Amino acid sequence: MSGESDIFLSREKRDLIDSLKRQRIIKSEAVEKAFLVIRREDFVWNDTSKQEAYFDEPLPLGDTGQTISAPHMIAIMLEELHLSPGQKILEVGSGTGYNACLLAHIVSSGGMKRSQQLITTVERDQELAEAARRNIERAGYAETIRVVTGDGSLGFPPRAESGIYDRVIVTAGAPSVPPFLEKQLKNKGMMLIPVGNLPYQTLFRITKVNESRMRREKLVTCMFVPLVGENAYKF
Ligand code: SAH
Repeated sequence: MSGESDIFLSREKRDLIDSLKRQRIIKSEAVEKAFLVIRREDFVWNDTSKQEAYFDEPLPLGDTGQTISAPHMIAIMLEELHLSPGQKILEVGSGTGYNACLLAHIVSSGGMKRSQQLITTVERDQELAEAARRNIERAGYAETIRVVTGDGSLGFPPRAESGIYDRVIVTAGAPSVPPFLEKQLKNKGMMLIPVGNLPYQTLFRITKVNESRMRREKLVTCMFVPLVGENAYKF
């Protein structure tokens, strides 16, 4: 890539970030920095132009039928998760690995080491899981992020019942909240999950107040591809 197109591209990226800040979607320095550092153009499918990578739109992932979420939706989720360095995170729906890298950038900042494996991301589509692994390695987060191929509606390890994660983020729309994902939240842990019918869902934030109490908050209306699995849609 020539220096000139580099400058043009970073302007596209800067414009997108400025717009998300003006709309009060990006609010924190941590989320802004992650958007600046992680190159969305390296995660989109080959037939997507570099400029399109910075449109605020979801983009198709080849012919897999899946999409990489629009930047504003990713930014909303990252802000609403209240992330901080050192947190252990489960992501369901790796897709391209872009969101996992943004998460990794945030939780491995502030003196945390990238070599600590803080993020587990589960993807049911083998081809996407492999693409996510390659993208994550190229972005320099192979040690921070583990990509698992499987059904994330059962959590990871599948059907584990103890509190493992500080944060859970589901990037596909679920018919209801999968019980193992709630169980795998630590006390005071939080999960973001789109729940509802297709194509529209409501983004919920679920906080484990204590072992016997969950708080559920409705955040925004959203539109995700379906979560397909044993504790999810069955097609
Ligand atoms: N976070 C991704 C985009 C996710 S798109 C990114 O940053 O690119 C939603 C993804 O969820 C798709 O790749 C789809 O294959 C996956 N998915 C759907 N149901 C799943 C399940 N039960 N377990 C794991 N992944 C699932």
